[in-house]
Amino acid sequence: MLRWRPALGLGLCLLAGTSLWALWAYVRNWPPVSYVPYYLPCPEIFNLKLQHKGEEPLQPVAQPLYPQPKLLEQRRLEEQMIPAHGVSPGSSRRAPCWCQLRSSLSCCEVAGATPLSTWGTRDPEAGTGLPPVTQHKRRVRTWPRLPPREALSTGTSPATRPTELLTLTPWLAPIISEGTFNPELLQLIYQPLNLTIGVTVFAVGKYTLFVQHFLDSAEEFFMRGYRVHYYIFTHDPAAIPRVPLGAGRLLSIIPVRRHSHWEEISTRRMETISLHIAKRAHREVDYLFCLDVDMVFRNLWGPETLGELVAAIHPGYFTASRQQFPYERRRASTAFVADSEGDFYYGGAVFGGRVASVYEFTRVCHMAILTDKANGIMAIWQEESHLNRHFISHKPSKVLSPEYLWDDRKPQPPSLKLIRFSTVNKDTSWLRS
Ligand code: UDP
Ligand code: MN
Repeated sequence: MLRWRPALGLGLCLLAGTSLWALWAYVRNWPPVSYVPYYLPCPEIFNLKLQHKGEEPLQPVAQPLYPQPKLLEQRRLEEQMIPAHGVSPGSSRRAPCWCQLRSSLSCCEVAGATPLSTWGTRDPEAGTGLPPVTQHKRRVRTWPRLPPREALSTGTSPATRPTELLTLTPWLAPIISEGTFNPELLQLIYQPLNLTIGVTVFAVGKYTLFVQHFLDSAEEFFMRGYRVHYYIFTHDPAAIPRVPLGAGRLLSIIPVRRHSHWEEISTRRMETISLHIAKRAHREVDYLFCLDVDMVFRNLWGPETLGELVAAIHPGYFTASRQQFPYERRRASTAFVADSEGDFYYGGAVFGGRVASVYEFTRVCHMAILTDKANGIMAIWQEESHLNRHFISHKPSKVLSPEYLWDDRKPQPPSLKLIRFSTVNKDTSWLRS
């Protein structure tokens, strides 16, 4: 009987020691995840914690006044004519071809000074003043007609100036367009990383009609040679066509509710994406692109687009001044942007980045949308307005030129060498009816 006592004591000591050790291991790793708290009524999001550690939260940029960066640089003709080896155009040696000077024009073609400046004009409704707080904008844009291409290529007029796409933002983020990167070199850098790229697309209501074309073209052009995971959110999984996928490419169909209003469907994307990343995508992909479905790939889209947080310049406003950008101008909205603010006008149809950054981004936008909702206001271009507001104070680390977000309803301007991804011509009112 007496021999049991030391054994029992020893056992209890061991048990206490193990419990203390386990407690210490748990406390040492506290907090187990990083997340930013919000004080808005969204219990589902409060309880979700993204399983990643050590990420620095995005720091907002202070708002000093600074001039708007112009995407299309207009160079003086004489400057362009002086080649690197110092031979002036007046010299007896042959003047260099325009294309040797990294102009974005096609070879020996010169853009006219007038035509592109009209592009920022919005549809006629836009000029009627600010809408009342609850009014929703009909989301159909019309584009002013461009003069014919020949009219842009006068070549001989002394007033004409070649234009070139800006390659770097004032905060030193690259602006990606054809000619600014070496695809072979990027392939060598990114291919060994064995990355998986996720794509979210929503196909609710009649928008399921776009899926086939979208996927077919993505299989041909999007991240060829990489692992790709398409996430298609739809109310009707049976309506999603079974497109044959290449090796290493996956497709998941995720059922979602069909909201009655199209604005609700498109605005809810921020919430759905952030929840989907937290629940699942953060374990499955390294980078995530969130794309509109009414689009088609027309040329290669590769690793040059990968970055921490990536935005794409809207094709309708890349020559417009910041005062013409269709930002939300009502102070009552959290998407409000003052006339003196703004770098580029970004499209809501394309954004992406590292999965953790896309998570933070979509969550913050969703919170801003919820705040507006609580205040009875919907931003003029819904989630696109919130995206633009966010990218003014949290600059994207990489900017995609309109090559990556074009619109089939617009003619290809000489300043774009190719179109990679474009909105198809669609009957918007029928789609949303
Ligand atoms: N969307 C959808 N069903 C709708 C409305 C929108 O699935 O009824 C999704 C779809 O992915 C679409 C995106 O939301 O591409 C944005 O809507 P839309 O393309 O009509 O907006 P726009 O590009 O014309 O501003
Ligand atoms: Mn669209």
